[in-house]
Amino acid sequence: MSSNKRFIFRLRYLIIGVVMMAFISTIASSLWGVYQISKNILIENTLETNRVYAQKLATTANTYLEETFKTLQFSALYIAENYENEVLLQQEVERLRYQTNVFNSVAITDDEGIILAVSPPTLELKGIQLSSEQTGEALERRKPHISKPYEGITGRKLIFISQPIFNAAGEYSGLVGGTIYIEYDNIFHKLLGEHFYNDGSYVYVVDEDGTLIYHQDSNRIGDDVASNKVVDHLMEGGSGAEEVTNTKGVEMLAGYSAVELPKWGIVSQRPLDVTLLPSTDLVKKVALISMPFVLLALVIVLIIASFITKPLQQMALLSMNEQERIKIEELRKVKSWYFEARILKESLVHAFTLLQNRISHYQTQSTTDALTGLMNRRSMDETLIRWTEEKQEYAVLLVDLDHFKSVNDTYGHAVGDEVLKYLAKTMRMHTRPQDICCRYGGEEFIILLPKTTEEGAYAVAENLRQYLQDTNSPCGRPVTMSGGIAAYPQAGDSPNVILEKADQALYKAKHQGRDQVQLFQVERMTQ
Ligand code: GH3
Ligand code: MG
Ligand code: MG
Repeated sequence: MSSNKRFIFRLRYLIIGVVMMAFISTIASSLWGVYQISKNILIENTLETNRVYAQKLATTANTYLEETFKTLQFSALYIAENYENEVLLQQEVERLRYQTNVFNSVAITDDEGIILAVSPPTLELKGIQLSSEQTGEALERRKPHISKPYEGITGRKLIFISQPIFNAAGEYSGLVGGTIYIEYDNIFHKLLGEHFYNDGSYVYVVDEDGTLIYHQDSNRIGDDVASNKVVDHLMEGGSGAEEVTNTKGVEMLAGYSAVELPKWGIVSQRPLDVTLLPSTDLVKKVALISMPFVLLALVIVLIIASFITKPLQQMALLSMNEQERIKIEELRKVKSWYFEARILKESLVHAFTLLQNRISHYQTQSTTDALTGLMNRRSMDETLIRWTEEKQEYAVLLVDLDHFKSVNDTYGHAVGDEVLKYLAKTMRMHTRPQDICCRYGGEEFIILLPKTTEEGAYAVAENLRQYLQDTNSPCGRPVTMSGGIAAYPQAGDSPNVILEKADQALYKAKHQGRDQVQLFQVERMTQ
């Protein structure tokens, strides 16, 4: 029983489980799809934004540097004309510094690098020879020049931008140049430095050798980052966007663009995880929005699962047949709404009907006498025991054919059987529906008469006896009977005693000449 029940519940859980699995995998794959699509869009957008941004910065930086070169170029001509006028030279460096708002300091040197004028004058560098490698290079090249970042005399990181000065005769007579303190407030700082965002986005600038010339972390200025693949592309003069891992191992979405005039490169980048945050948010939102539908669908699944398992469960429980009673009618009522359940139900009903017919056939066989169709002795005994237990009054009439042996001997055993069947039929004819006729043995019969006294039974017996006496039996002539009657509880308190008393009465009937009925009570009275 328990195994059946467990099976049914397992079936239900199986259905729910399978559907849940299908559900979860569908939801998970949709969410995964949403995540992937939004991730790709975000990455593409960010790469493109950074690329455009780096390009814009590069163009702007280029424009500034061009302007600066032009200004210095113009200034160099002016300086060549007024080379000997110290006051004018000083005025010129002041003008350059204030007007352009590009330089942190401006200086004019002669062809050996000795400073002729400097702004701000507080630097007190006038008359001193520029000695750095970078200024030396500028002097030597005699061309417009932008230095690599280097540490100036004052210890600050700076870039030196200069134009050569040629006098009217075309002789090289020095340079005019300005410094940009990379870490300090100047136009480039404003241009680049404001693009450091709290979310980890930032911009950096490299020179043509892959050295950092601008970075939000000033300590890194001067670092060689040529190994970075984005910088590598920049050094080849390219521009574009791609995913890179920075020196700290953070994945970045970088847009990059080369500056033309000095061969610099500008990179604008944003951390990948920051970029993808909206993706995760989106997935959460989608999951949240679809939650009511998921719950609704789950409820529907539970209901459907119960609908599917219900007929099977009912059939299983009914088939367990606990009370040894086959519940065919209940089985018929099971709502088998789908093919398998219907076939199963029909098969069960069919099988159980067959079984029940077979059982009732054997039951009949075991309770009835094959020749006469009357109740047999075994079930007669059971009936008497039951009645006695119920304290129900009854009478028994024992019937025995007279000289039956001679019927057999004269007409044969087959005719004898016909006579026995005829007697059985006659007994039924002369009794009430509630009376039970039984074949007790060979040609001995008993009629059980519920709620009947010996007198009541006597009337029935006399009717029967009279009829037999007056009617031809299958052997061609009437057969007679002798009867003995005893009643419960007058004659005794158990079926055996009652039967014995009835037998005694029968014996008396035989003894007194047959074809008569005797009461046990009468016998007692006559004794
Ligand atoms: P009585 O009862 O009047 O003393 O004489 P009887 O000849 O009937 O004697 P008894 O009751 O002892 O005889 C029983 C006979 O019934 C013996 C047997 O041949 C016959 N008999 C018993 N069972 C059957 C049966 O099933 N079929 C047939 N044809 N005869 C049976
Ligand atoms: Mg007999
Ligand atoms: Mg007899």
